[in-house]
Amino acid sequence: QAKENGKNSICFYTSDINDRLVHYQEITALLHRALAANSLQLHFQPQIDLRYGGFGSCEALLRCSDGSSCPVSPTVFIPVAEKSGLIHRIGDWVIEAACRQLKAWQGTALETVRVDINLSGRQLTNPNLAEQILQTLKNHELKPSQLGLELTENEVIGGDDGQIRQLERLKQAGVHISIDDFGTGYSSLVYLRKLPVCSLKIDRSFLHHAMENDSDMAIMQAMITVGHSLGLSVVVEGVETPEQDRLVKSLGCDLAQGFLYAKPMPADQMLI
Ligand code: C2E
Ligand code: MG
Ligand code: MG
Ligand code: MG
Repeated sequence: QAKENGKNSICFYTSDINDRLVHYQEITALLHRALAANSLQLHFQPQIDLRYGGFGSCEALLRCSDGSSCPVSPTVFIPVAEKSGLIHRIGDWVIEAACRQLKAWQGTALETVRVDINLSGRQLTNPNLAEQILQTLKNHELKPSQLGLELTENEVIGGDDGQIRQLERLKQAGVHISIDDFGTGYSSLVYLRKLPVCSLKIDRSFLHHAMENDSDMAIMQAMITVGHSLGLSVVVEGVETPEQDRLVKSLGCDLAQGFLYAKPMPADQMLI
């Protein structure tokens, strides 16, 4: 991770640094500064199509640094943003930035690549979210199918009917919808069938355990089978080794994402 911050950087995503920054106030202040200075950044990580090895989509991952300090992990600042309500402004920024990037990629080798953003369940409490996303796509002359949204099971399930209807509206318009960190939540299979979803992203903890024991491997195989029988594509997260790559291919996963193929990177590095 240090490499991403420039040659002379001594910043790492260590728990040390995040522990020190973990104070709520400090992180809220950092987020306020980053919004004011427009210094939030999106990094992108390709999702590899396991059949042919190329990629047709990537995940946008938010990075926050105010220039003076080391970057803080989104696993630390997103929960703070959710708690403080800043997630609405930050989420709006992410939607806008992803569309701006898609627009900038038009006419390049990446013009058909879909960008999947992470959505916090809190954002769905805004009854105009679907409308706003579709309008932002329109403003940038983009097709809805160029954008994807990732939500965790609990965020979708925790939603009321109005929130599900917003997702339905987006999916109908062509926006790709994925369940993120699949397997770590509480969704029943019956419920899953009713959700407006296009893909499942199996949480990386399953892959890591599947390398070590057969029952976790069986669980992963079952999740893939369920996904496919519901007509969903299955993505596996966190592929780090060639052995894991072989395993996910043999289990029949459709797509994979992980450090083995590419780390999240700034937009300009995606073009090389
Ligand atoms: P996520 O959506 O599950 O994103 C995948 C995370 O796994 C990313 O961490 C990514 O860098 C990491 N990853 C990718 N490949 C590998 C691998 O091979 N091994 C390992 N160990 N990790 C890998 P990151 O960027 O730190 O983001 C963490 C979480 O923060 C995300 O998990 C997502 O829940 C949240 N997040 C990130 N950006 C946003 C955003 O714009 N909005 C919201 N609401 N949440 C975000
Ligand atoms: Mg995600
Ligand atoms: Mg995930
Ligand atoms: Mg997540």
